[in-house]
Amino acid sequence: MAEATATRRRANAALDLDAIRAEFPVLRREVHGRRLVYLDTAASAQRPQAVIDAVSDFYARYNANVHRGVHALSQEATDAFEAARRALAEHVGAASDREIVFTRGTTEAINLVAQGWLRPRVGPGDRIVVTHMEHHSNIVPWQLVAEQTGAELVVAPVSDAGELELDALEALLDERVKLLGVVHVSNALGTVNPVKAICRMAGRHGIPVLVDGAQAMAHEAVDVRDLGCTFYALSGHKMYGPTGIGALWAPYAVLDAMAPWQGGGEMIDVVDFEGTTFAAPPARFEAGTPNIAGAIGLGAAVAWLRGVGLARVAAHEASVLDYATRRIAEIDGVHVVGTAAHKAGVLSFVMDGAHPNDIGTLIDHFGVAIRTGHHCTMPLIKRLGHPATARASFGVYSGEDDVDAFIEALGRARDMLC
Ligand code: PMP
Repeated sequence: MAEATATRRRANAALDLDAIRAEFPVLRREVHGRRLVYLDTAASAQRPQAVIDAVSDFYARYNANVHRGVHALSQEATDAFEAARRALAEHVGAASDREIVFTRGTTEAINLVAQGWLRPRVGPGDRIVVTHMEHHSNIVPWQLVAEQTGAELVVAPVSDAGELELDALEALLDERVKLLGVVHVSNALGTVNPVKAICRMAGRHGIPVLVDGAQAMAHEAVDVRDLGCTFYALSGHKMYGPTGIGALWAPYAVLDAMAPWQGGGEMIDVVDFEGTTFAAPPARFEAGTPNIAGAIGLGAAVAWLRGVGLARVAAHEASVLDYATRRIAEIDGVHVVGTAAHKAGVLSFVMDGAHPNDIGTLIDHFGVAIRTGHHCTMPLIKRLGHPATARASFGVYSGEDDVDAFIEALGRARDMLC
């Protein structure tokens, strides 16, 4: 009892920022003679030592190919690879580890659904609905399927504040719609979409929903079955894991009804020139030698994030974002782009008379790393009336001192540019 209370208290305690930062070696370096202020976590998060160690340990101690070998190293590698799958399955609330398909990332997961699941199921007269807020990786794969099949891509609107217009979205959902693609957390604006309500809405019309979870995984606890989606796509490098690894979650029955997408080793049952039979999921969708080190690193990232506690991460990032939103308002001529009521980790903005790229280049000289451009969301940025924005994004290691350094650098940039 006392132990449970102590554990709870620890879980409720504020995040120890110094201790967290000490786990990220890259944060010790300087850029242009200044402390690195890394505000580009939405593009790619930094990695804690635990993830770096897991990857290097694999290469140093038990590097071997998985699944095929009878020797000790191959078995150890297979065990670690499959343990990572189990860790991720448990983390997202999957019913079984067989529901997790390792992919290169969110992009490949969405392309897998587009080609393996949707393409054989649509034709002329059918519709695919996406929102105006999507990353290109949740637009272009569906556009390709639409071109290949004669189906139509339809776009649900976004308000000036950068929120989905839910009534307009619901009005689009009818029997012609074969899939709805929606982003959980917008990488360009930080908007957190009410995906559970959206899945319920789509469910009333029998429409499967693919949720692009690339940005959500590092900011909040995700339970795919509670959300009620049919597909959930994620990327390791956005959640403190390695690049080149991610996953698709779908219920096993859905995966089992899916055609293979890429052919090759690992994904087969029996190969014969007369015909080939395929392995059961998830192997059916993991052709070729997988990113073994990446998967093991992703497993380590999941363990690390769970150790910190996503509720604590979410509370910390919310307070940093809140502070940054208040402080940026002090700079004349700066306008925040994306003012949704529920946001996570992202502050997009424009400055009168200055191009975002110039802002980003100038503040880099103060050691502050931000992203500028269209953030792979060209239709959204255009919809909001800008050619580009500058974007500061926050992670578990971001603090108010980072925001202060950013605001100071931004003020200096404004003096130089405007
Ligand atoms: N969706 C969103 C919302 C993203 O932020 C990103 C990465 N910027 C992606 C999809 C694509 O992820 P990846 O490049 O890791 O495949």
